[in-house]
Amino acid sequence: MPRIAYVNGQYLPLSESAVHVEDRGYQFADGVYEVWSVARGKLADFDLHFERLRMSLGELQIAWPMSERALAAVVREVHRRNKMSNGLIYLQISRGVAPRDHAFPKDPVRPSIVITARPTSRKAIDARVGAGIAVISTPDERWHRVDIKSISLLPNVLAMQKARDAGAHDAWLLDEAGFVTEGTRSNAWIVDQDGNLVTRKLGHDVLPGITRGVLFQLLGKEKRKIIERAFTIAEAQAARETFMTSASSWVQPVVEIDGQVIGNGQPGSIARGLRELYMKHNHIL
Ligand code: PMP
Repeated sequence: MPRIAYVNGQYLPLSESAVHVEDRGYQFADGVYEVWSVARGKLADFDLHFERLRMSLGELQIAWPMSERALAAVVREVHRRNKMSNGLIYLQISRGVAPRDHAFPKDPVRPSIVITARPTSRKAIDARVGAGIAVISTPDERWHRVDIKSISLLPNVLAMQKARDAGAHDAWLLDEAGFVTEGTRSNAWIVDQDGNLVTRKLGHDVLPGITRGVLFQLLGKEKRKIIERAFTIAEAQAARETFMTSASSWVQPVVEIDGQVIGNGQPGSIARGLRELYMKHNHIL
């Protein structure tokens, strides 16, 4: 597969793509991003990710670098040029290039755009889904507006590394009262002993996950009960099932939290069913 990136108006081999050293994304993490999954050659939930991008840019007062229509066409063109059937498309928009100063540039600068494509192995993902993953819990040390999909991800990076150092796959983040906010790059869910799905309600303390939102829509039709509330790690450890959702893994069963096995240690039937539901919706199955 060719690796072609789009950077500020140019399609380039990934190895030759670069941004300016005074890009505010590079110096201040002053930017936003989106990630689309590509499966069977199709970009999943295309418009929903665009809507969230609109919200993130608006909240940070970053202008669209080009019309939304034109940007959508560029995202699709990056996908086309990379000839990718399974993988991820990453888009980042920063406030642009300006001499380093914390305040926004006085004279408007053009926001910078970077779009890349990365293939993923369906086999590896299927194996991880089939086995389930272990997570650890760790304090949520992020800022108070994580509903904005900003590229400022240092606490997520550190939490993920802590998980990997502990031999786990990911980390679930805990607010000051000990409730799970979300994963480092996913929304967190449990299935309680009555079969209800429980996930934290949206607010400034979680990202409004697109996969989460799509499951809400799909489950609305199925009438399975979703309860939007916070839950603790102890509750998750005693749950019937636990799983997480994101564009990169869709529905990923979690079978161990802080060393405690969940249920019989196997991915649960509800999580597997939700994964199928999501895949059918995106015509992946
Ligand atoms: N929370 C965080 C912190 C994330 O980084 C992600 C992945 N973008 C999600 C939740 C899941 O969102 P989505 O379903 O849109 O990928």
